Amino acid sequence: MPSNRAVPALADFDVVRVYALPMRNKFRGITVRCGVLLHGPAGWGEFCPFEDYTDSQSVPWLRTALESCTTEWPEPVRTSIPVNCTVPAVPPEQAAAIVSASGCTTAKVKVAEPGQSPGEDVERVAAVRQALGPRGAIRVDANAAWDPDEAVRRIRELDRAANGLEYVEQPCRELTELAAVRRKVDVRIAADESIRRAEDPLRVAVAEAADVAVIKATPLGGVRRALQVAEACGLPCVVSSAVESSVGLAAQLALAGALPELPFACGLGTAALLDGDLVADCLLPVNGQLPVPRRAPEPDPKLVAAATPPTEVRQRWLDRLRRVHALLDS
Ligand SMILES: [Mg+2]
Repeated sequence: MPSNRAVPALADFDVVRVYALPMRNKFRGITVRCGVLLHGPAGWGEFCPFEDYTDSQSVPWLRTALESCTTEWPEPVRTSIPVNCTVPAVPPEQAAAIVSASGCTTAKVKVAEPGQSPGEDVERVAAVRQALGPRGAIRVDANAAWDPDEAVRRIRELDRAANGLEYVEQPCRELTELAAVRRKVDVRIAADESIRRAEDPLRVAVAEAADVAVIKATPLGGVRRALQVAEACGLPCVVSSAVESSVGLAAQLALAGALPELPFACGLGTAALLDGDLVADCLLPVNGQLPVPRRAPEPDPKLVAAATPPTEVRQRWLDRLRRVHALLDS
């Protein structure tokens, strides 16, 4: 799409700040989350593609930041978003403690961690059910670890341990595998990695591979683009974060706020994964809920100054921003 007219020049942004926030725990192999804050006519935006993303993969991330600082988000249809707590591959006692402390009524439990046994997953899920009570919802995420036969066995086991799973996220890698598993189990299948990898997200539904789509505004090019993807795939959606600061997380909440239907809790309670934030009033869930913001929250200059990385990191991110911005026109 020729979009010269629509693409603001980098010089139009009056503030550009690089940040680096430590992660509380290693995530995707990273210990520090970096990005750039931009300020434009409509407010703030955050450009935070993961370090290993190419410039062309980072283009939609920049579109999301530009949408946030140059336009109003679509009108929301709800004012708050229920979020899940996340239980990593920890021992059962710790899993129960995480759930009890969260205030959430939905828990997402990591399973199929390399080096762990199926029994450990079963014990973790059972402990989560105990802590959550009979009415809470439990979903598990296998991050594409299983082949179809193993997936069917493990899903049945975990469904029993959970006394009913809400859904299982990405049990296998390929769409054809998801479809095969889906035909054999009673538990809903959610596509996460498949939505990101599919050229056309519609294929996920057409392939009858999933009952639920996990979508993210930040890597999809913004709230409007993600709403189109949600509509195209025609499945109930769960909005999930890309581990942004509260500035970037606001766009994800705007997406969750604008989706016509939101039948499940979202994966947006992730500000706590970062050790610190860039805004004073950070987007941490209260009683398992987050508000739907109308614009990204204002960064606190003191917090931004405290999160400013050394010159070489700043330069690397500013260069990256310039290169990715240059790709917007092409
Ligand atoms: Mg996932």
